[in-house]
Amino acid sequence: MVDYAGAIWSPNNNYFANTGKKSFVILHGTAGGYSAQGIADYFRSTEGSNSPVSSHYVVGQDGQIVQCIAEKDGSYANGVVNNPNWSSNPNLYTISIEHVKSSNDNSEPLTPAQQAASFALIKDICQRNGIGMHDADDTTGITGHFAIDPVNRARCPGTYPWQELFDYLKGNTNMGVPQGWKDSNNVLTAPNGIQVTLGFRDHILSSNWDKDNWPLEPEKHLTGLEMSNPSLGDGQSQLFRWKRLEYTPKMGVFEGWLGQELAWYQKQVTDMEKQIAALQHPQPANLVQINTLGKQIADDAQLILKLSQAQ
Ligand SMILES: [Zn+2]
Repeated sequence: MVDYAGAIWSPNNNYFANTGKKSFVILHGTAGGYSAQGIADYFRSTEGSNSPVSSHYVVGQDGQIVQCIAEKDGSYANGVVNNPNWSSNPNLYTISIEHVKSSNDNSEPLTPAQQAASFALIKDICQRNGIGMHDADDTTGITGHFAIDPVNRARCPGTYPWQELFDYLKGNTNMGVPQGWKDSNNVLTAPNGIQVTLGFRDHILSSNWDKDNWPLEPEKHLTGLEMSNPSLGDGQSQLFRWKRLEYTPKMGVFEGWLGQELAWYQKQVTDMEKQIAALQHPQPANLVQINTLGKQIADDAQLILKLSQAQ
């Protein structure tokens, strides 16, 4: 019978019986097929063949979960080991979950229904089996088939939202791709088409980012990241409607102190306005100076406009 209440039982005989405590959850992609039930049927069809296969669970693209092997048993999912960190037969101490993917390279992302089903299933398995709800370490956790067989199974499970999974397992259920945004191949794209990548992307996916706080520009390098805080040095910056994400090697990714930065620019404008006023009855020679200051003010006004859009 099923160990997970939300699963349909569709068993086969491709298993090691009563293998004891399970310490890892291993995620897979089917690289073919269309439904969880269809994969379960396929497993059963390999009984008695030269290469019988199975996994404990299969998660369909419609979110349906089929259980094929009891958790107390070991499935035939991780046959070949090409990593010395995995001792003896990993099938004896792991629980495997297949994710139905039609593409033969597992490149397609999970569907939203499939992701929700997968996350909930993983959490339940970990809680009932005392498995660490984090990226696998030496003793427990969650990882992909690629970790056991990086030679032949480097693309198993293929595209999988690992960061979102680990955030979800930490209880940060509001996190993930903001509504209306798209995340694919490690590139987050806002509704206005501007992209967010690397650490800034991770920051948005792992924080409760407002869907309307879209980027105003692509990420860029700044010599002197914050004018109001020169000690930061150079860094990366990307301006959003009401935040600025910043990165320096020392600080990592953080949200810049926009108010403080805006105050710095406001002071610049005020100072220059005073200088202009002082030059209001110019000698002819001062006209050049006035023109130069006028240009500086125009440049600063551009920056201020950008920053004030972020308020
Ligand atoms: Zn696999």
